[in-house]
Amino acid sequence: MLARTGTAPTRNYVGRFAPTPSGPLHFGSLVAAMASWLDARNAAGTWLVRIEDLDTPRNVPGAAEDILRSLLAFGMEADGEIVWQSRRLAFYDEALATLALASLTFFCTCTRKEIADSQLPGAKSALIYPGTCRTRPGQDQGALRIAVPAGEICFVDRCHGRQCQDLAIDVGDFVLRRADGIITYQLAVVVDDAAQGITHVVRGADLIDSTPRQIFLQRALGLATPDYLHVPVVVNGRGEKLSKQTGAVALDSEDAIALLARAACHLRLGTIKAATLAGFWREALLRYSDLEPAALVSHPAPCPSITS
Ligand code: GLU
Ligand code: ZN
Repeated sequence: MLARTGTAPTRNYVGRFAPTPSGPLHFGSLVAAMASWLDARNAAGTWLVRIEDLDTPRNVPGAAEDILRSLLAFGMEADGEIVWQSRRLAFYDEALATLALASLTFFCTCTRKEIADSQLPGAKSALIYPGTCRTRPGQDQGALRIAVPAGEICFVDRCHGRQCQDLAIDVGDFVLRRADGIITYQLAVVVDDAAQGITHVVRGADLIDSTPRQIFLQRALGLATPDYLHVPVVVNGRGEKLSKQTGAVALDSEDAIALLARAACHLRLGTIKAATLAGFWREALLRYSDLEPAALVSHPAPCPSITS
C-alpha cells in the first residue's frame, strides 16, 4: 500500500528519480518523476536525482541540464546533490572486480548473429544469450557478461504484486560492460541505488522486467534490495509507449500546472485544479496519500490523450 501502512515507517525512506539524458524530460518521465516524488514526500522521505549518463553515444549535450531545469520548474527539487553516473566509473569497476573474484563474469566476443543463430527452440524473446563463452578459456576482451543462475528470482511489487523471472530462461547471461567499455544500466543502477542508500524505487513499468536482474546483482554484490513500485507507463493514442522523441514536455513554465495535472491524472489522482505550483502539490499529495497502489493498474486513466 502506498501510504497507510498502519505503523510508522521502520526505516528511513530514500527514493530517487534517475533520468537518462538522451533528450529533454518527456511526459512519461514526468509521470515517473512525479510518482517517485509523491511517494517520497508522502513517506516524509528523501528524494534524490541521479543522471544516468553512461551511454555516452546516446547522451544529448545539454539534455541533463535541461531535465534538471524542468524538474525545478515543476517544483521538484532534489534533497541532495545530483549524482552523475559518468563521474562514478571507479565504483562500477570495483563492483566488476568483486563479481570477477566470485568467478561470475566472463568475456564474450559473440556477434549478434552468432547469438541469434544459437537460440534454443522456444526461446521467449530474441537474443537470449546461450552461455557460449562461459567456458571459453583465455579470453580477455569483448563484452563482459555475468553468468546467471537457474531458478526464479521473485519480488513483490507494491503495485503489481509478486513477480518472478527465471533469468536463465528469460534473459540469459547479460552484459555488464559492453565491448566498447561502456558500463550497462543494470550494473550501474544497482551500484548507485546502494551507494545512495535508496530504500524505495519508484519508476515506470517498462523497467519491471529489469528488476530480477538487479536483484540478482544486489545479491551477488551483497547489497540490500529496495522496495519496488512500478507505475504504468504513458502511451500515446496509438498505444505506443511515449518516447523522448514523441513526448517531450514544453519547458514553458506557464504550462507547468497543466502538464502536472495531466501527469497526476495518469497516476489516477483525478482532476486537480490549482492556481499555483504549491497548491497543486498540496492537493496531489493529499490524493496520493489516499491511493491504494493497486489503483494504479486496476482501471484505465480517463486522461486527455497524448496525440504525438
Ligand atoms: N535511467 C532510466 C530511464 O530513464 C531509469 C532508471 C531507473 O529508474 O531505474 O529510463
Ligand atoms: Zn559469447
